[in-house]
Amino acid sequence: MPLQFDPLGFSSWLRHWVSSFLRQGCCFKIHSGFEVRVWSDPWLPHADCFIPKPRCLNTRMLEDTRVNDFFLPGTRVWDEMKVHQTFAEGDADCIMGLYISNDYGPDRLLWTLDPKGTFSTRSAYHLVGASEASSPLLVPPNFRKHICNLHLQDRLKLLIWKVAWDILPCRSNLNRTLDLGVSNASCVFCELEEESLVHLFFYCPQAVLSWRESPWGLQTNRIVDWSIREWVAALLDPTASLSLPADQAELLIRYGAILMDVIWCSRNQVVHNGKRDDVGTVIRRIHRLYVKHSKAWIVAAPVEIIAWQPPRGSGWKINFDVAIRPDCSFSCCGLQKF
Ligand SMILES: [Zn+2]
Repeated sequence: MPLQFDPLGFSSWLRHWVSSFLRQGCCFKIHSGFEVRVWSDPWLPHADCFIPKPRCLNTRMLEDTRVNDFFLPGTRVWDEMKVHQTFAEGDADCIMGLYISNDYGPDRLLWTLDPKGTFSTRSAYHLVGASEASSPLLVPPNFRKHICNLHLQDRLKLLIWKVAWDILPCRSNLNRTLDLGVSNASCVFCELEEESLVHLFFYCPQAVLSWRESPWGLQTNRIVDWSIREWVAALLDPTASLSLPADQAELLIRYGAILMDVIWCSRNQVVHNGKRDDVGTVIRRIHRLYVKHSKAWIVAAPVEIIAWQPPRGSGWKINFDVAIRPDCSFSCCGLQKF
């Protein structure tokens, strides 16, 4: 039984991401050993990715080799000699110590981050945090919190997150992660480079012009070989990397988020509808949205609320009100002693 996750209703792109993510925490508990493939399914705790390594490089790693092939015939006892001849030393020792359940049921896939083996959103959330902490990112350690606190629409925050993790489905990502074999992976705008996110948003001629026309006049093409994560980190903290004042950070990431959003939408228009905007239109759209979003986030000065206060001492308070209609009018007054 190949290890598969197929959440209903997920797009192929999201399904692939979820599958890759879940593989980090899933491991089979061996019962019959008949359903688990030795060299591709996760089944050995403590091994990298829960998959054992062969003893020698020339070991025959047949795709269809199952775990029960290493039991003594007719039993569920490990064939010690065969195990040691096949697997790397440390893995062979782990296998020999692996408890095989007396239950003859099917092999069970367990979620290793839960003592009961049951998947929970909470444990998956911790796995995301651990992955982020151990990832050699050049982004601040509090990256997620930093993005959450930005004065941006949630949709734009999510976009920055996806860009930083390089998971927007541009052509190079589709080829790299889904192995779709997209024959033409060149940029839809310039057709000069491979369509990666860092090219689309920072090095494509259209992106270079858009950044040059920004309030900071950034010349992104002068900074070569930065990865997409380095660029996002620089936008979030431009003081050290781009020598911009700290008070410009919020504005810069806002401009960057809108730029990436506009360029990504423009790219999708070309790919899916065959509609191509000229560079000037794209830049004007970025500027218009940047001004619009900036106005929306201006913090209004607190308005002083002036309320009636009774004068000191005793007196009379008189309130008037009038309503005027097309064919009549009303008036009234109230008198109160205080
Ligand atoms: Zn390009």
